[in-house]
Amino acid sequence: MNILSIETVPVAVPLTKPFKTALRTVTVAESVFVKITTDSGLVGWGEAPPTHVITGDSLGSIQFAIEHVIGPQLIGLDLRHSERVFQKLHRCMVGNSSAKAALDMAVYDLLGQQAGMPLVTFLGGYRDTLETDFTVSVNDAEEMAEDAMRYVKSGFNVLKVKVGIDDIEKDIDRIRAIRAEIGFETKLRLDANQGWEAKEAVRAIGQMEDAGLQIELIEQPVKAHDIEGLKHVTTHTYTPIMADESVFSPEDALQVLQLRAADLINIKLMKAGGIYKALKINALAESYGIECMTGSMIETKLGISAAAHFAASQPNITRYDFDAPLMLAEDIVEGGVIYEGRIIRFSITNGLGIDKVRMDERFMRK
Ligand code: MG
Repeated sequence: MNILSIETVPVAVPLTKPFKTALRTVTVAESVFVKITTDSGLVGWGEAPPTHVITGDSLGSIQFAIEHVIGPQLIGLDLRHSERVFQKLHRCMVGNSSAKAALDMAVYDLLGQQAGMPLVTFLGGYRDTLETDFTVSVNDAEEMAEDAMRYVKSGFNVLKVKVGIDDIEKDIDRIRAIRAEIGFETKLRLDANQGWEAKEAVRAIGQMEDAGLQIELIEQPVKAHDIEGLKHVTTHTYTPIMADESVFSPEDALQVLQLRAADLINIKLMKAGGIYKALKINALAESYGIECMTGSMIETKLGISAAAHFAASQPNITRYDFDAPLMLAEDIVEGGVIYEGRIIRFSITNGLGIDKVRMDERFMRK
């Protein structure tokens, strides 16, 4: 089963409410869809959104890398020798993790189809369902408390609260306001997206602990490159600390694990360059007794399907942040994972189970 052709389609889907973090505001979900066709007639799908402030990838760079650098290297390769495909995919270009992730997930989609199994089963098939959290964008405390209440009322048991945009004292006020509104039944995890300094983070987290705000975990308190700072926060607080932007590759993960710089790792396919490397990061973390979450960028159900199939296949991945498709005004992907409120299920279709991508003019980005 050889790779015959690789095509890209840039898409754009509006969000129902702006997604706001310490790093960016997103109103339209842009992505490059990739379609790999084999000589046996199978089609594999992948997706890469441009997350400038995290991966450095843009829509143009993703498309160029797929069409002109990595893609041509993969044409003609036999998917029965998938290790050769992944070696080529990762070695022919440095960086460009999002473009690699899109190609990687399309290859895994095909491997599942070739094996005659849903991808989650092909990869190990550990869980049948996943429960996603829902993200509260960073705004003023009152708006965040209202948003949080709305998400709780619509059935979410875990909220991921974005903080780190301005004064750390205001972040504590935001969490107090949310707890006052929704009570203590709902799990709260915070994501500072690199917005805090190490020492102020220790002080603020200590205050939240003393105030009994019951925070499940805190993601990426300090700058991505500040591994010493991350370790400082992890060492001096009781609340579990999760590395996100600090860990792209297996090598990044190993450094964080060896230094005990974080209690948890957030694996995203767009940072790792796809499932092949994500499996390696998870295996390293598991060997250090560190559990992982799998999250995503602002992606459609296509990219999330790949992340969810990967996450559900591995026992060490215990937390899931797959709310992005629920933020989109329209679903342009038929098939893939099935959302029932906060619960994600898998169809019995082989591979990622993508039936059709709605190539409607409205969603085609020029
Ligand atoms: Mg994060």
